[in-house]
Amino acid sequence: MASVYFDHNATTALDNSVLETMLPWMRNQSGNPTSRHIFGRTARDAIENARAQVAEACGAHISQVIFTSCGTEANNFAIKGISTIMPSMISQQILTSAIEHPCVSRPAIALQQQGYINKEIEVDLNGKVNLDQLKILLSKPTGLISVMYANNETGVLQDVDKIAEIARSAGVFFHTDAVQALGKIDLNFADLNVHAMTISSHKIHGPQGAAALILDKKVDIQPLLHGGGQEKGLRSGTENVAAIVGFGAACELALKNKSIFTAVTRSLRDQLEVGLNALNISIFGNKVSRLPNTSFFSINGIEGETLVMALDRKGYAVASGSACSSDSTEPSHVLLAMGIPADLARGAVRISFGAHNTSAQVSNFLDTLKNEILRLKQMSAIAA
Ligand code: PLP
Repeated sequence: MASVYFDHNATTALDNSVLETMLPWMRNQSGNPTSRHIFGRTARDAIENARAQVAEACGAHISQVIFTSCGTEANNFAIKGISTIMPSMISQQILTSAIEHPCVSRPAIALQQQGYINKEIEVDLNGKVNLDQLKILLSKPTGLISVMYANNETGVLQDVDKIAEIARSAGVFFHTDAVQALGKIDLNFADLNVHAMTISSHKIHGPQGAAALILDKKVDIQPLLHGGGQEKGLRSGTENVAAIVGFGAACELALKNKSIFTAVTRSLRDQLEVGLNALNISIFGNKVSRLPNTSFFSINGIEGETLVMALDRKGYAVASGSACSSDSTEPSHVLLAMGIPADLARGAVRISFGAHNTSAQVSNFLDTLKNEILRLKQMSAIAA
């Protein structure tokens, strides 16, 4: 049975036109971009072309784009790189929201083990960061704030521009993880006025293995990797030319297709949620601004993991919370932070649409979902 892919927040299929731009860099002799000969210079030009495409897609200047191997690396770089230049580390706070991806919360926890003060900023029932609590926390010496733009599970958007204003007036470095925002909503580094922002290629039909930290040039930061001094000394290591070229092409494509993506996925999401409402299913974060393609919901009395496996057998690829932690049966930390009871949080299922999904797929899915819920509830009634 052909599977229908409803898991675009986890990763996206490589676009064919993107693949075409990458193939020459994989097939032919490609020089090391730091070499002075023609092979090296050609590879360097390809990287600089990709840098311009990436900068254009997120409203940054080319000099602000630092290529990394993945969003996880860019987030680690922002957090650890700033922490090493914070004045007196023991007395400085690192503030992250309670709903961050583990590649933000775990570096902060690792720094706590080295003596930094690591505090979480709460979110409300809708998954929005509590700005009043942030202001109170900032009365203590703080070196860094990291709050994501769009949550990977609920899709809920934070008021990043407001947080940037608060951070700038407190003189604190502010980083935002915009991995889920790129290509799905308008994203403009200059307008947001943040110090640093993470984006990643494989969420926008680009290849895995390329991402970027967009960094305000005035910020002093230490690299994670020391070596040959690539990326202006901020990320040593021979560049992955094919992946970076693909990332650039995917950015250009995402920019061109953004309004189609928004219109198509929003209409599919609305269609899905009309069906979910008719089944009395709780939807999370639907009262505030969200990514257009994401719906996160829970069915009382059914484990999210069980439903995900049942739907997989019926030909639908969906997620139970974050893909990066899907080997864990713990309830979603995002929902717990929003004050959702653990039982309901354990039943959470995420659908994230792409522009290639169709209305027929959604209506067939709703029929399947209804049948599977009925079947699983009957089975648990028999077992009880
Ligand atoms: N941040 C968010 C919000 C994500 O959803 C993900 C991946 O799922 C990442 C960071 C990690 O990005 P990458 O997979 O490129 O390491």
